[in-house]
Amino acid sequence: MGCRQLNELALLYEQAKKSGLNTKLIMDQGLDTSEIKNLINLHKRLKNIFEDEEKLIKEYKENPSEEIKKHLLSLSDQVKEIEFELQKNWHFDQNEDYHSWWFRQPACSCPIIDNFERVGVPGFIINQECILHGKDK
Ligand SMILES: [Zn+2]
Repeated sequence: MGCRQLNELALLYEQAKKSGLNTKLIMDQGLDTSEIKNLINLHKRLKNIFEDEEKLIKEYKENPSEEIKKHLLSLSDQVKEIEFELQKNWHFDQNEDYHSWWFRQPACSCPIIDNFERVGVPGFIINQECILHGKDK
């Protein structure tokens, strides 16, 4: 590997770290640069979605509307897609049981700790009042 490539790789790892990615896991999984870039972008998208959701859920609580709800549900669908993409780029099985971003969404009111404890176990704990995952979604 040339000097320039090494430099680029070092920068990429730095970026990955800043995005909150586990750089040790990146090495353990033997990810290539395009996969690392994908992961960084997916995390950026998650961050943007979470920011949008935060604003929307605040708006919704003040003034509920079907339009906002639809928007929130579409963001939630995107989170699910991203979780599968993350698994793919991490070389993990694409398995919903291991998803852990959906219950951290700002608009989600499902229990966080209970669901964290169940990552990898089939079946989630849903708050039926949750606008994203509850009975009226
Ligand atoms: Zn929820």
